[in-house]
Order: sequence, then C-alpha cells, then structure tokens
Amino acid sequence: MPDRLVIVGGDAAGMSAATQARRRRDASELEIVAFERGPYTSYSACGIPYYVGDTVEELEALIVRSPEAFREENDIDARIHHHVSAIDLDARKVTVCDLESSTERSEAFDQLVVATGATPIKPEWPGIDADGVFGIQVLEDGVAIRRWVDDEKPSRAVVVGGGYIGIEMAEALIVRGVQVALVDAARQPMATLDEDMGAIVAERMRELGIEVFLEEKVTGIDQSNGRASAVATEQRTLPADIVVLGIGVRPNIELAQEAGIEIGESGGIKVNRRMRTSADGVWSAGDCAEKFHLVSRRGVAIPLGTHANKEGRVAGINIGGGYESFPGVVGTATSKICDIEVARTGLTESEATEAGFEFVTDTSDSTTRAGYFPDTRPIKTKLVVEKQSGRLLGAQIIGEEGAAKRIDVFATALWNRMTVAEMLNLDLSYAPPFAPVWDPVLIAARKAWRLVDETVQVDPE
Ligand SMILES: Cc1cc2nc3c(=O)[nH]c(=O)nc-3n(C[C@H](O)[C@H](O)[C@H](O)COP(=O)(O)OP(=O)(O)OC[C@H]3O[C@@H](n4cnc5c(N)ncnc54)[C@H](O)[C@@H]3O)c2cc1C
Repeated sequence: MPDRLVIVGGDAAGMSAATQARRRRDASELEIVAFERGPYTSYSACGIPYYVGDTVEELEALIVRSPEAFREENDIDARIHHHVSAIDLDARKVTVCDLESSTERSEAFDQLVVATGATPIKPEWPGIDADGVFGIQVLEDGVAIRRWVDDEKPSRAVVVGGGYIGIEMAEALIVRGVQVALVDAARQPMATLDEDMGAIVAERMRELGIEVFLEEKVTGIDQSNGRASAVATEQRTLPADIVVLGIGVRPNIELAQEAGIEIGESGGIKVNRRMRTSADGVWSAGDCAEKFHLVSRRGVAIPLGTHANKEGRVAGINIGGGYESFPGVVGTATSKICDIEVARTGLTESEATEAGFEFVTDTSDSTTRAGYFPDTRPIKTKLVVEKQSGRLLGAQIIGEEGAAKRIDVFATALWNRMTVAEMLNLDLSYAPPFAPVWDPVLIAARKAWRLVDETVQVDPE
C-alpha cells in the first residue's frame, strides 16, 4: 500500500508541496489527495487587482493548473469544493465535506500538509454583510468584484485600509473609471513603511485624484435595499457603490489549533526550518504558517505568495524523502499604485526599535536613469542602519518606473548581513538608460555610511 499524503488548501503552498512530493515519489509509493473548498486550484491571487482592472482580461490567465491537469499530468487527486473541517491526529484522519453533495466523510492520511492560507479581516461593523462589500483573498473574491464592477458599473468606491492590497485595488478601480476614496485608521497608508515614507505615498495618491482620509475609524456601512450605499467614519459619510476591505488578513489556523498543533508567537502555525509542525507527520506552509524573520530573529506572520511557493516546495521535498530547509524571510515586499512604486525590506524604524537595535536612518534622492536621459524618474531611498557596526537593517523605496525592484539588492545585502561599508563598492550595473553612474542603491549606502562613521566610538586606548 502506498503512503497517503493529504493536502488541505489547493493554492500556492499546498499544490507546490504536492507537486514537489510527487517529483520524488511516484503514485506507487505515495498517493496524493488535495482538498480545496473553492472552485479553483493553483491560482494567482496576486493577479486579482489586474484582473479587476482589466489589465489581465481572461480569468484563465490567473489559473496556473486546474484540478484536471493535476490529475492527468501529476497523478494528484485534486478535489475542489471539498472543505476540511477537522483533523484527528490520533486516528490519522481528516473530516471532509463535499460541498456539492453536502456529504461528510473521513479521509485517512499518513502525512498531512495544512496550507489553508489566510482570511481577510472583516470587522463587525453594521452593514458589513451588505451586497457590494468585498474582502479579498481567494480567486472567487476577484471574480465577484470584477462581476460587480462589470455589471453594476459603480461610480464611487471606498477602499478601507491603505495596505498593499488596498492601494492595488484603488488602482484597479481608478483604471475602471471609478472615483476612489481611501480610509485608514492609521496616520499613513502603507503601514509597513515608516511614517515619513508613508506620508509621501499619501501625497502621491492625492495627486492621482484619490481622496485619502487618514486617522479615521470606520463605524459602519450604510445600506439601501441590502446594498452598500456609503461608508460611515467617525468624521464623515462617504458615498459608495462598492466597498473594498483591505485591512489585513489573519492566518487560517483554526483547523490546526483545534487538533492541538502548536501556534507560534505571531499567530501562525509554528513550523521548523523543514516546515514540520509540532505534530508528527504534519507539515504547514504559506500564509497560515509562521515565518522566522532573519533580522529581528522573531516569528512573524507575513502573508505573501513568494513565501508560500518556497515553503510549499520545501515541505514537498521533505515529504518526498529529500532534505530541504527554509531559513526565513527578511520582509521584502513591493507594490504599485498607478505610476508610483513602493518597496520595503528588513526593519522599519519602529520594528528596529522593537527588536532592540540602535540605529541611524538616512533618506536620499536620486534618479532611475542618468539625469540627462529621457524619462528618468525620481527615486527616494530610506535606509535603517545599525549604529556603530553599520549593518544594514532595512530599506524603503518610493519612486516610479525602475525604482521598486532595486529593493532586491538591499534584500540580498540583508540576507548576507552586510554592512553599508561593504555595499559601497558593489559591482552594480551601469548604463545611462538603467541607472545614474552611482546607482541609487550605492548613493543610499554611501550617505548612510557617513552617518554610521559619526557613531563609531573609538576606544581611547
Ligand atoms: C489581491 C491580492 C494581491 C496579492 N499580491 C501579492 C503580491 O504581489 N506578491 C506576493 O508575494 N503576494 C501577494 N498576495 C498574497 C498571496 O496571494 C498569498 O500570500 C498566497 O496566495 C498564499 O498562498 P497560500 O497557498 O498560503 O494560501 P491561499 O492562496 O489563501 O490558499 C489557501 C487555500 O486553502 C483553501 N482552504 C482554506 N481552508 C480550507 C479548508 N478547511 N478546507 C479546504 N480548503 C481550504 C482556500 O480556499 C484557499 O484556496 C496577494 C494577495 C491578494 C489577495
């Protein structure tokens, strides 16, 4: 009898684990069954804003592999519309409900991957369940929003929350000709940036014609005949034909928690470097699993597709009998709203303080191409650097085309615990269409290095 691997959750993390395990063990050795409660497997939730905005016209373009393809090409039994409601670790069984026939049964496993993702936070505001109010996590959410925009032709939207999903959805709605207002209880949008950088994002968003209301708490959603008609805040009422919630997500841990699997300090399922949970033969990956932050040395919940794919791969290799580990993350993320690119990696000032570092910060301005080159664009780079040692702790970038991906150089430097002194002479590429002769990364490192130098305490001996 082959071993039986059961996967809960049929997207990035779950299906990466399934395909990697299959590469190492064929069906005679390992039977693989994946349960997905929605109608799609292996889809790109990251593409949802671009589907809503019609940059991506066909939904199929966002689906990497269908259940049929998994069955035919990978010998993986991917069952959509199947919800897993319980894990029994002693009996080595999960309880599964077939949502189409409403029948429930037990399914045995030898190995189990919990890849249940995350759920958008939906506060208990009056009117939150009105038609036209959307949270976003899975592809069905994207389909529902696009249908609403196509069919109802909203003229005014309120986006609640100015995180990266909020700003990407604001862009999508603007592209579709909708007037957008954005409300956030924080002092700035993009709370993953420092306040000074977030303030620039707010200013740029206003220049795009978005009404931005900060430090305003939403109190409820007004409705008329069951449809959202306005968002009420403590200060005002904003008319809305569509309301999009982008106030964050929480890891889907209930299944694991109820089974007695350990939950980490961040609220995600605790895993070791090989993506093993506290329970024997149970693995977890993706948005539901806790990540280890390589700079703060703490458990964190960072729900990103880039981590979900890598963690799923690692879990699958280990289940398949190989050896692989996932060392952790440095908190790299990027996003855009219209022409404005935003990126960050490592720790912000407040995160560095919380992690116990003493540091200096510096913000520098440069351009994405040689100053004389047509279409050169401004780029602002902020660095957080440890006092005395000069170790890079974090970087934030705001700019236009060609700006955001420069964050990857800083991410690589963080990964390798580099100091800004070590970054000064990095052999980064230069040609006028791509960079000034001193790349913005090198300019930022050089400016921060001067500041660090002032903090170096020379031993009087
Ligand atoms: C609008 C948007 C834009 C994004 N943009 C980016 C980006 O640019 N870059 C980036 O890195 N990340 C981005 N992300 C995040 C990225 O999509 C997620 O991190 C990624 O999808 C996580 O993969 P996952 O497999 O862990 O979870 P999910 O993709 O959430 O998949 C989990 C699956 O499990 C299923 N499930 C849950 N519970 C059960 C159960 N009990 N039984 C059966 N099935 C269950 C769910 O239906 C779901 O399909 C974006 C997300 C959104 C919503």
